[in-house]
Amino acid sequence: MTSAEERRYAGAGHRNGGGAVKGFVHKDCSRHPSLNDSLEGEIQAFLTDEDQLHTYDDLTKVNPVTPTTVLKCLRARYRVKVFYTNAGCTLVALNPFQPIPDLYSLDVMKEYHSASQPQEFKPHIFIVAEEAYRNVQGQLEPVNQSLVVSGESGAGKTWTSRCLMKYYATVAASSSVVKSQNTVERIERRVLDSNPIMEAFGNACTLRNNNSSRFGKYIQLQLDRCQLLVGASVQTYLLEKTRVACQPAHERNFHIFYQMMKGATDEQRKEWKMPHGQRLVWLPKAEKIVEEDCFHETVEAMVHLGINKERQRQLFGILAGLLQLGNVNFSSSTDESQPCDIEEQSQDFLQRAAELLCVPAEELQTCLRVRTLKAGKQSVLKPCSQAECSMRRDCLAKVTYAHLFEWLVTFINNSICADKSTWCNFIGVLDVYGFECFQVNNLEQLCINYANEKLQQHFVAHYLRAQQEEYVSEGLQWSFVKYQDNQSCLDLIEGSPVSVFTLLNEASRLNRTSDAKTFRVRLEKELSDNVNISWDKFSEVPHFTVAHYAGKVDYQIQGMVDKNKDPVPPELIDLLQKSGNSLLHKMFTDNETENLMKKGLSKVTVVSKFKNSLESLMKILHGTTPHYTRCIKPNPDCKPLTFQKEEVVMQLEACGIVETIHISAAGFPIRIPFSSFIQRYGLIAKYSRFPFRELLYWSAGLFSFSFTSSFNLDADNSDMLHQEVEKLLRVVSQLQAL
Ligand code: ADP
Ligand code: MG
Repeated sequence: MTSAEERRYAGAGHRNGGGAVKGFVHKDCSRHPSLNDSLEGEIQAFLTDEDQLHTYDDLTKVNPVTPTTVLKCLRARYRVKVFYTNAGCTLVALNPFQPIPDLYSLDVMKEYHSASQPQEFKPHIFIVAEEAYRNVQGQLEPVNQSLVVSGESGAGKTWTSRCLMKYYATVAASSSVVKSQNTVERIERRVLDSNPIMEAFGNACTLRNNNSSRFGKYIQLQLDRCQLLVGASVQTYLLEKTRVACQPAHERNFHIFYQMMKGATDEQRKEWKMPHGQRLVWLPKAEKIVEEDCFHETVEAMVHLGINKERQRQLFGILAGLLQLGNVNFSSSTDESQPCDIEEQSQDFLQRAAELLCVPAEELQTCLRVRTLKAGKQSVLKPCSQAECSMRRDCLAKVTYAHLFEWLVTFINNSICADKSTWCNFIGVLDVYGFECFQVNNLEQLCINYANEKLQQHFVAHYLRAQQEEYVSEGLQWSFVKYQDNQSCLDLIEGSPVSVFTLLNEASRLNRTSDAKTFRVRLEKELSDNVNISWDKFSEVPHFTVAHYAGKVDYQIQGMVDKNKDPVPPELIDLLQKSGNSLLHKMFTDNETENLMKKGLSKVTVVSKFKNSLESLMKILHGTTPHYTRCIKPNPDCKPLTFQKEEVVMQLEACGIVETIHISAAGFPIRIPFSSFIQRYGLIAKYSRFPFRELLYWSAGLFSFSFTSSFNLDADNSDMLHQEVEKLLRVVSQLQAL
């Protein structure tokens, strides 16, 4: 079989996520060369024969649906190098951790794009992409689409998102190449070029993934009336800015710093005050070999997007300044009335940092070591302790890096966003962190898991609604099994008047050092009615446990309130606003919030900000037809073609895949188009003493399925029906033999 033939498969897995495209589980015989072959395969699919497990293109077909059967099926497929499997309306993507030739080539893209029924191909990310693309036009009116890609770190989300972007940059541009080649090519190039830049600044090598995205991203690909890609816009979420000043053990800082170190010319090194061999504390090496030869690619992408040489110079100057700042240390002071000194060997670094950030060294030194307390109209200067000085240094780096990233995203948007009059629809690609449960979890994990709860709620609501609409349109009697949704968990986290978030905000507003134990007691007092929260009162470390849809997570309270406050000393903002580096100056003066913060008027907490940005994302998602892809990382070491059961089971639980299949199975998971049914089983009527119509009613009564435009079979009865049909066919063939 050629690879093209292998991809084509006269029996599509059921994907019904788009709503507009109806999927069928059963093979459509009209396109199959042999009716008997098809039936043979069909019947086999319902026998739990392990040899055949790899042939299950849709996990809803696995009977019974348990974590074990789902796992076995995925493993069987992975062994034969099949990486995509449908799970009802979700696509499950297993990471091969090695390039798979021909799976994503241009020819393959074109093949999917030009197919009259791409759903009849084996499951593939391009089917999802194409389905979304076709859905945009809608049946009555255009519908915006969202491709939600989730999964844990290293599972393949960013890879998949890139793949989707390339797909659209290819298929949505091809038809207009002749007419306006330059414009179209330029915009596609730019849209794709935003990836290396964002990855250079937002990704880092972690223990889980050499190229781990440290931010969430929603990119909207803008399409014009002719469905051509005319622009894009990016929204980012929760950049892990702490990484710039504090890298977890065996992990690295953001890629861009290493790219600079490796790719700089001697002249640039001189300008960045970065001689060879200089040891920089904020640039730890990872044990793993990491590809970091991308400096030129990043710079080239910047040029394509319109970041001119001068801006680049300023930008790299700031980054080099931050690296120098990382080597500034403070000595401990015994006299509390005196600020800590900057260590002797740090002096040069401080000097260089000030030069690169274009701020007076004296002022930088003061800002790091002395706090200005405002009491009415008077200001009191208070020397900082050694720990406070280090915190201020780190804070300076974090706030600068976060602003730089924000500036880049805004620049990219200005460069790739089409004029509103030129585009009418979009396809959004969401690449966000999956559910996280580590040894120690804090505010970051709470936010990420909260986002996943929101997405899960959206997914379930959408899916159940889509099913309901379909049954109503087919006149089917159907009462939904009550599904336990995750509203109570969301109420616990974000609800009002009291929730973890409101209590965190309340504690953050009170301007005293927050005590973890007091906060835990407060949580207990206010939230103990909610079944999703619990705690071990006797635990040494104050914590609370949240029962998420994907499992229980222990959150450590220590440090949570401070993280939520995320305070930036106003003196630091003041200093950066005075910078002679016009980019740095701009970054801190254009921003209204900064000015308010400086005056102490605005205290937007991390969770409030995140909740707001997530709410606007949910609003956008609600206005689109979603398509879900769950990426799975088959082993923790990123080893090629290695499948570890325990690892996969955990992720299946975390993304609620078994739950998803159960929801699918709670409805009619099997849909046979009317014409296929007649084509397949019609011959029974020929030899039966009953007219075909009666035969159908008889089957319907017996197996409690109903039919109008298509047959919706109950999962429990589908295999019985098939066995029954098999028996009938045997009778038929005996009759034929007579
Ligand atoms: P995530 O964004 O989920 O953290 P990535 O998308 O960065 O994970 O994927 C991690 C690595 O896995 C990639 O760098 C790539 O090497 C590999 N990978 C992911 N998906 C695929 C795929 N479909 N084919 C080949 N390699 C892949
Ligand atoms: Mg990623």
